[in-house]
Parts: sequence; structure tokens; C-alpha cells
Amino acid sequence: MENTIEKIRDKDPEQKEFHQAVDEVIHSVKPVLDRNFEYRQQGILERITEPERVIMFRVPWMDDDGQVHVNRGFRVEMNSALGPYKGGLRFHASVNLGIIKFLAFEQVFKNSLTTLSMGGGKGGSDFDPKGKSDNEVMRFCQSFMMELYRHIGPNTDVPAGDIGVGAREIGYLFGMYKKLKNEFTGVLTGKSLAWGGSLIRPEATGYGVVYLAAEMLQTRRQTLEGKSCLVSGSGNVAQFTTEKIIELGGKVATLSDSSGYVYDEAGIDAEKLAFVKELKNIRRGRISEYKERYPEAVYIPVSPERDYNPLWEHKADCAFPCATQNEINAKDASHLLSGGVALVCEGANMPTIPEAVDIFLDHNILFAPGKAANAGGVAVSGLEMAQNSMRLSWPRKEVDDRLKQIMKSIHSTCLAASSEYGVEGNYVAGANIAGFVKVVNAMLDQGLV
Ligand code: GLU
Repeated sequence: MENTIEKIRDKDPEQKEFHQAVDEVIHSVKPVLDRNFEYRQQGILERITEPERVIMFRVPWMDDDGQVHVNRGFRVEMNSALGPYKGGLRFHASVNLGIIKFLAFEQVFKNSLTTLSMGGGKGGSDFDPKGKSDNEVMRFCQSFMMELYRHIGPNTDVPAGDIGVGAREIGYLFGMYKKLKNEFTGVLTGKSLAWGGSLIRPEATGYGVVYLAAEMLQTRRQTLEGKSCLVSGSGNVAQFTTEKIIELGGKVATLSDSSGYVYDEAGIDAEKLAFVKELKNIRRGRISEYKERYPEAVYIPVSPERDYNPLWEHKADCAFPCATQNEINAKDASHLLSGGVALVCEGANMPTIPEAVDIFLDHNILFAPGKAANAGGVAVSGLEMAQNSMRLSWPRKEVDDRLKQIMKSIHSTCLAASSEYGVEGNYVAGANIAGFVKVVNAMLDQGLV
């Protein structure tokens, strides 16, 4: 095991986030490997940590002043044992191969937990959509798809959104794919409702996070009613996590972006949330504007150099990190503990650094890793694919009921795996083990390919 981890580090020493994700999974599945000689003999760890295919490409585009820029595009096709590669595209300045590999690796286990037939992949670009015009974003998306289209397809690889890629970008990407292939197929998910999208897909990740949190609380005979909650981020996941918490009677005090956060002691209610949606999704503004509209709130700028985020210092029963990877460090975790937190449910992918995860687990906090907690998004993407294949559209309630059922099943699967391996209630180990075993058995069934 240690040997495999070392080899991976030596091969690509700069891919820190990938090592972090691999390290966690490998340590969780040690008891599974100990019990199973075949997994070791078949080189399962080496195979599962090496992407099936990595595509890297140049994305040239022209800005509104006629200046040409070049970004780098990625698609990591990690594992197709359970179905076509499936996972989002991230457009963010921080994107590099290591980040996309970590996300693709996480996606494999997440998709496995959804119970649907989806392999794992992820892609994106270091293109920064901040401050770009609609036309610039369109030209970038078109150029990105001019290369990507030859590698994807509804039965091969089905991208979707992630940070920096929402309904607008999916539209531009889809338009170019359709033109190049002369085919109208469900090659992307997160599409608009009128042309093949699914009801509840925009809400799915955030709603799923809260459905899972509710399941976890129920194991301690509690509900979200009256609970104070901290949410980070203000994008799609944070918005719909907040919406569902409010609906279930909880109170959300915070939202953030990369410049700072707002603290609203009275709670972010449905009306304030509608303002945030319009601000972020339509005007594409900054969360600091919340304070201009609601002066009773406080806005606290947070520099990226700071060694902890004061957002996590507020007293709360529940924390929902919904911004990005590694946003909760050991200091933040201690602050959350002192503030009385009882549940941490990850809406983002890998937002908690390993030392902070250990702090939560050591203190018996209900802690859900992103690959279980935020799986509702990709699960409804799977349902979008099913509807596309049938060329029909399910009603809202049907999709929402299926989402609830999937989150329930993820919860019980993680718990069952944790108790089977003697770590009852450890959702991190449970998610890794359950996700891993299903993928690995499929790989063995399909031979050495
Ligand atoms: N980007 C989302 C995730 O991290 C959704 C992926 C999808 O819908 O394919 O799971």
C-alpha cells in the first residue's frame, strides 16, 4: 500500500491534491485489501489510481478587443468499469492536471455510490470566467468543444458543470457539439429544461447534501428544525443547500465567495436567498453586495493568505462547506468544535483537509465526505441521461423522490460498510469502502483491460 502511494508521489510530485485524495481512499480500504488476496494480486490499487486516459489540449480564443489568449483544456477519463465516464467540467484559474485528476478520482467512488451506471471522469480549464463578457465565454466554450467533441459521446463520456460551468456554459458547449457532430444527443448534463435537461438538476447537489445531513441527524434522533447552520460558498451548491435547510426549518447565517463572507444573524431567508441567486447567477456579482442590500448583515473580507477562515468561528450546530477543496484546515476544525458543531456535511469536493477530518472523527462529529454528501448532483445527471435515452421528461416530484431515495441508499450503504469493517459511523471509511468494492469487482469481472 505504502509502496503504491510512494510510487504515485514520485511519478507526479506536483499533483498534491491527487495524492491527498488517493491517500485517503487507500488508507480507508486497507482492511478490504487485507481480506482479499485477489485484489492485491490483480494490482487493483495501481490500476484504479492510473487514469484510463488523459486528454490535454490547447484552447485558443479571442477576447472582445481582438486579443488572442490560450488556455489549457483537460479531460481525465479515470474509470469506466461501471458505465460511461461521467463528471463535470471546472473553469477556474486554479485548474491544473493534479486538480482534475483528484476530482476525477473522487468522482469514480461518488458515482459508484449513486447506484446508477456511471464511470468517473472530470475536465476543465484554467480559463477564469470572472469579468469575462458573455461573448468571450461563448467563444471560449466553442473553442473548448472544438477539441473535446471527438473524445466524448452519450455512451462514452458525458461531461456536466462544476465550478465556473453552469447553464450558460453548458448551452454554448452543447451548441458546438451538436453542430460538429450533427447529432442531438444527451452528451452533456445540466442542460436547460427546454432542450433535454432534467427538473431538479439545478437543485440536486444542494438538496442531496441536506437530505443526507437529515439522514445522519436521524441516527441521533435529531432533525434540522431549529438548527443553526454555517454555509460557505454562494454558487449552485451553496444556494440550494441553503434553500433546503430553510425549508426543513434550519437557519443559515453565512455565505461566502473567494473575497470574503457575509454573516447575517437574523438568518438568510427565502427572500434574501432569491436576492443572492439573482446576484450570483444573473448579475454575476460578489457576495459583498449582500451587505449593501441588507445592511443589518456584516461582510468580512478574508484574504487568501490568512491561516484560518473566520467564517468557521461562528457558533453553529451544523457546517456545510460548499465552496471548494481544502477550505477547512485544522484550525478551522478546532474553531467549529469550540463553536459547538455537531454535524459537518461536505457540499464541495474535498473541502476538509485530512488533519481536520481526523479532528471531526476523533470528536464523534457526524461527518459526511463530499463523495457521499454531494453525490445527488451527479445522481440526477444520471437520471437526466436516463430521460434523454427515453426522450421524455419526468415530473419534478418523480425526480426529487428518486434523489431522496438515492441519498437514503448512500447513507445506509456507507453505514453498513463502516460497520462491516469495524468503524461503525465513520462515513469517510464507509463511503470509500463501499464505492471502491463495487468498482473493483466490476473491473475484475471485465478482465485485465
Ligand atoms: N460536478 C459535479 C460533481 O462534482 C456534477 C457532475 C455531473 O453531474 O456529472 O459531482
